[in-house]
Amino acid sequence: MYGSGLWSMMGTALVFLLMLIPGIMGWGKEGHYATCKIAEGYLTGEALAAVKQLLPDSAEGDLASVCSWPDEIRFHYRWSSALHYVDTPDFRCNYEYCRDCHDSAGHKDRCVTGAIYNYTMQLSSYQDSIVESKYNLTEALLFLSHFIGDVHQPLHVGFTGDLGGNTIIVRWYRRKTNLHHVWDTMIIDSALKTFYNSDLTIMIHALQQNITNDWLNDASSWAICANNHTVCPEPYASESISAACKFAYRNATPGSTLGDEYFLSRLPVVEKRLAQGGVRLAATLNRIFSSQPKIAVARR
Ligand SMILES: [Zn+2]
Repeated sequence: MYGSGLWSMMGTALVFLLMLIPGIMGWGKEGHYATCKIAEGYLTGEALAAVKQLLPDSAEGDLASVCSWPDEIRFHYRWSSALHYVDTPDFRCNYEYCRDCHDSAGHKDRCVTGAIYNYTMQLSSYQDSIVESKYNLTEALLFLSHFIGDVHQPLHVGFTGDLGGNTIIVRWYRRKTNLHHVWDTMIIDSALKTFYNSDLTIMIHALQQNITNDWLNDASSWAICANNHTVCPEPYASESISAACKFAYRNATPGSTLGDEYFLSRLPVVEKRLAQGGVRLAATLNRIFSSQPKIAVARR
């Protein structure tokens, strides 16, 4: 409606301000970039061709460059906000799709694992070229790539009572922040500064080296989905809440100061989750875009 110009300006300003609030986004930009960059290295020719065809022009053929897009639009696409995480019951340290996958209003399937199933199903229509897809497959690709990253961030499968660590105020060295933001961004930022000359490319290279060396035995199993399913976010979410309890929440009570001890013991967890997210995103895209006949997307 005209005459609502001021409101719309205020709305825009509010959206902008909200985007500046840390701690509600998901892995930060670096984390998502790393996950998608690692995935790019494991795509089959078939999957890479499909990905390149679906990417928006602005990506210039690089999936990693647009993997944070769902965070940038989550306040414009308000419906998408609940799809970045799943909340689990306080202190239970486990995850169950039927119990946990809903938004705060109780709508079923509206959580990160539900979104991963949904966008995989949409992308699986890519090859039915006879019927034009009823979905926006470019958006589906960007959402899926982003959410497979998010489900690997332990506090994206955190407790309901503290909103995945968002309400746990701590200090990261001298800086006041919240525990969720520490895991999205601060551990990665500190690692970049301390060990990787503030260069994300060097960090990603180190993760790629680990996948082919130290983690080699594990890494081959990361890519597999039980029962030949196209996608399998359930174990990823279970691993995340388990890591949240074992590493993220431990010794990070409200008001505590997290420093070297916490940083150095948790960094390997963050690095492994970024690598797992990358390997699994590639494996999922490879299955989705494979011309081999496949079993339909199974939803639990
Ligand atoms: Zn996110």
